[in-house]
Amino acid sequence: MTETALPAHFATLCRLARDIAILESVQALLAWDQETYMPPGAAAARAEQKGFLAGLIHERRTSPQLDEALRACEADADLMADPDSPEAADVRELRRDVNLATRLPRALVEELARTGAQAQQVWKQAREQSDFALFRPWLERMIDLSRQKAACYGWADDGEPYDALLDEFEPGATCRQIAPLFARLGPRLTELIQAMSTRGRAPDDRPLHIHVDTSRQQRFVRIVLEAIGFDLTRGRIDTAVHPFCEGLAPGDTRLTTRYREHHFTDALYAALHEAGHGMYEQGLPKEQAFGRPIAQAVSLGIHESQSRMWENQIGRSREFWSWALPIARRELGSAIEPFDVDAIYHAVNIARPSFIRVEADEATYNLHIMLRFDIERALIAGTLAAGDVPAAWNEAFRSYLGLDVPDDRHGCLQDVHWSFGLIGYFPTYCLGNLYAAQLWAAMRAELPQVDQLIAQGQFGPIRQWLASKVHVHGRRYRASELCRRVTGQDLSIEPLLDHLRSRLGPIYDVRC
Ligand code: ZN
Repeated sequence: MTETALPAHFATLCRLARDIAILESVQALLAWDQETYMPPGAAAARAEQKGFLAGLIHERRTSPQLDEALRACEADADLMADPDSPEAADVRELRRDVNLATRLPRALVEELARTGAQAQQVWKQAREQSDFALFRPWLERMIDLSRQKAACYGWADDGEPYDALLDEFEPGATCRQIAPLFARLGPRLTELIQAMSTRGRAPDDRPLHIHVDTSRQQRFVRIVLEAIGFDLTRGRIDTAVHPFCEGLAPGDTRLTTRYREHHFTDALYAALHEAGHGMYEQGLPKEQAFGRPIAQAVSLGIHESQSRMWENQIGRSREFWSWALPIARRELGSAIEPFDVDAIYHAVNIARPSFIRVEADEATYNLHIMLRFDIERALIAGTLAAGDVPAAWNEAFRSYLGLDVPDDRHGCLQDVHWSFGLIGYFPTYCLGNLYAAQLWAAMRAELPQVDQLIAQGQFGPIRQWLASKVHVHGRRYRASELCRRVTGQDLSIEPLLDHLRSRLGPIYDVRC
């Protein structure tokens, strides 16, 4: 269907969707500002601004005008004839958004927001003091509210309540789909990690601990971002305690990273990770279709696959360092001089079990996710009580990662997610790693010279491949369908295992 032949009700739908997207972009700008430049004194006013905007957005999303435009489009047989057309995808996905917004009663939405804000404050204190008892009643409350939320959303007859929560972040994903993947991946990763720790030769970590001034790191990060193709005329990079990316609006994607003078790779890898998210945002057709689902990210799992690929498959490759080391030598100063490409390549791929998820390496990271998935699923199913979380966590940690958790700060209190009700979110990190590896394998088959390109700092063909295969579709297909279309296969654990074995085996000098 050509643009000119589109009916008036579809144009109305697009206009209403665009209005919502404008409000959301203002909301995102406020959130970005809060994490970067906002003075502490503005906290109360900012909370009021965000609350007011959230109310406006909810009002728009549940408005009779939007519902009416959607109904007219849904009844238009010509418009909906091809379910894969951009227009049909827009209608389907906007209906989904409206359903998600209307199925939760206002009282529950407010209760979740209020409890989340308080629970987050208590969680901070509980984590500092490693005092689970303090957090326990709030966790109980959040689990209870999350179960109510799941009941409002509903789930398939052959599914379970957790599916309803997962679906918010990874549309279409279910426990039936991901639990078997995780169950197969877990033991294979454990085997790999054991082989490395018992028979392998661990790399020297000294290159990671050289001293590099923040200003030098900032210059280096900027050069790398420009080279990989993050468009700094349509984006920015700033500093934040917890690095993130906000795709605000057409022509405006914001990244953040953080600098540690005795660990220069932190800023680099956080920036590469966030730039992967950022290039996805920049690759979405927002200029043409802002507000329409075909210009929005398909799922958190696919989003994470883009960041992980740039961070790990590309940024931790030997070829990347053979390109980047001469630049690093020039920009970072004398501290890096004693180290050659292999020394840095090996150091940035050190893999060993550790307690904190956000500091975990590429191989052990997924085990951190699996144990959270098991615990969340049991909490929502009602087979695990909130009070039993520390014991369940520590036991799972021993079995997945072979370590005894010293205290809850290094255990079940480390993540902020549960305090504000983000349950069903963690699995998307592992899905992201799996999608990254599978997309990477498909790209290598189509671009066999990819290693050479990286070694020469020619990242354009990689970015264009991702843009044309993944970014351009927005939410046109579900993540699992997109994966099938791009790679020819359902999501599988093998590409990730192949990637880890072929990288870590030679580094650790071990067959695995
Ligand atoms: Zn990410």
